[in-house]
Amino acid sequence: MNVMELKSVQKTFDGQLEVLRDISISVEKGEVVAIIGPSGSGKSTLLRCATLLTQMDSGELSYLGEKAAWNDENGKSVYARDLKKIRGYFGLVFQNFNLFPHYSVLKNLMDAPISVGGRNKAEVEREARELLQKMGLADKAGAYPCQLSGGQQQRVAIARALAMNPEILFFDEPTSALDPELTGEILKVIRQLAEEKMTMVIVTHEMAFARDVADRVIFMDGGVIVEQGNPKEVIGNPREERTRQFLSRFA
Ligand code: ADP
Ligand code: MG
Repeated sequence: MNVMELKSVQKTFDGQLEVLRDISISVEKGEVVAIIGPSGSGKSTLLRCATLLTQMDSGELSYLGEKAAWNDENGKSVYARDLKKIRGYFGLVFQNFNLFPHYSVLKNLMDAPISVGGRNKAEVEREARELLQKMGLADKAGAYPCQLSGGQQQRVAIARALAMNPEILFFDEPTSALDPELTGEILKVIRQLAEEKMTMVIVTHEMAFARDVADRVIFMDGGVIVEQGNPKEVIGNPREERTRQFLSRFA
């Protein structure tokens, strides 16, 4: 089954900068997709389109076969009037954690399930504490984000996304804002989620991680998918010259 599908996405900024030119991606249940590519290639914009933070100019978006956006007769994207249910299908983890600074760790996790999900507080708290335990943060429930390391903050952000029980998680360079010695703890958490068959799309510059953990790697450049496939092939033995050039920077 298809968890998320984007079809022929086009996005232009300020009427001239073509950032996404006809990108299509579909993600299967349990699949881990890594997106790699140079800065400015449109990776974040693509994730923002998938997570309804940015409107596509043209293109279709669906989750679990339910349409979030489709093309009108002029080929312009039209969005569903009520996107609340769709928003419940995905979670997003940013580069800069984006925690609520004035909320405790526990409240960061509990806020959306209660206020958006309308769920029972005691039950949400029990699940939130379990998630913190799983992330190795059980003793940080009462702490505030500013009292945590970057790696701990990012683990809270991942726990917060998981607290909404999403069908799919998107990560936008989840380790790029971290000191190198803190990168490993985040990659370990994502690797564990992959082993649990969480469906994930991860924009990353961690090539070894992408090769080991992803089921599929997509290389983007200039707003198009240049090549995609088995990580060992795309990263280990790319077909396209542009992919090879990009990867040579990591050698
Ligand atoms: P990546 O994540 O691959 O580095 P982005 O999707 O962030 O790429 O950006 C792709 C291009 O779109 C860049 O040239 C960037 O400057 C431009 N861009 C991104 N967001 C905006 C915006 N809100 N307004 C104008 N230009 C933008
Ligand atoms: Mg980006």
